Amino acid sequence: MLEIDKFKKIIIANWKLNGSIPYLNEYIENIQFDKSKDNNNCLVVCPPSTLIPYIKTKKFFIGSQDCSSFKEGAYTGEISCKMLKEIGCDFVIIGHSERRSIFKEHHKSIFDKCTNAINNKLIPILCIGENGQQRKENLHKEVLMDQLSKSLPKNIDIENIIIAYEPVWSIGTGLVPDQNQISEIHDFIKQEVLRSNQVRVIYGGSVKAANYKKILEIQNVDGLLVGGASLNLDEFNQIIKF
Ligand code: PEP
Repeated sequence: MLEIDKFKKIIIANWKLNGSIPYLNEYIENIQFDKSKDNNNCLVVCPPSTLIPYIKTKKFFIGSQDCSSFKEGAYTGEISCKMLKEIGCDFVIIGHSERRSIFKEHHKSIFDKCTNAINNKLIPILCIGENGQQRKENLHKEVLMDQLSKSLPKNIDIENIIIAYEPVWSIGTGLVPDQNQISEIHDFIKQEVLRSNQVRVIYGGSVKAANYKKILEIQNVDGLLVGGASLNLDEFNQIIKF
């Protein structure tokens, strides 16, 4: 399994249901990052799974946007962690809020996906986050605690997972928590829930070229998960200057 503790910061591009083979080729050609030159930082691109076999570059690491909670068998439409590893993935996003809300994913399948990822030497990027109502009612810490305690397998090497704190009310909305709010939650996850300084916690939600620096400067933010802005290479190339 890739050792992520050596990286200063980790930036993940989540393309969601966007992209094509020509777009991917253009992206690879124009992306201004090369992991053979900057090995202090980590860039992971997560396109739709059908595009992954077309990635011949070693400029960045490859991640999947999801994986099956099953290992193999009669599960039509599923893609297993073993299959993702075979096509070059080192990372997999698990429990993204869109999967939780639109596809009704729940803790048990998220837990099984994390287990399968770890067993296949894929680094899980476990997404957690409260919605707007939960934040208004000051329930956000309880929600995060619940998501983490029910989704993470016991006895895992905490250094080999990434937690993405993505407040649902921030994803795709242009609303971003202030620096103190982000710092408070990252501290809560590291110190109070997981009791580890080593665990990598990244922030996601409306990250843009205009705000990424201020977020990345926060001492307990280990990186960023970028959705919409990762599809605009002019903008994303600014963000991946780290
Ligand atoms: C995401 O998809 O995880 C995300 C953070 O999206 P956006 O950056 O568009 O808010």
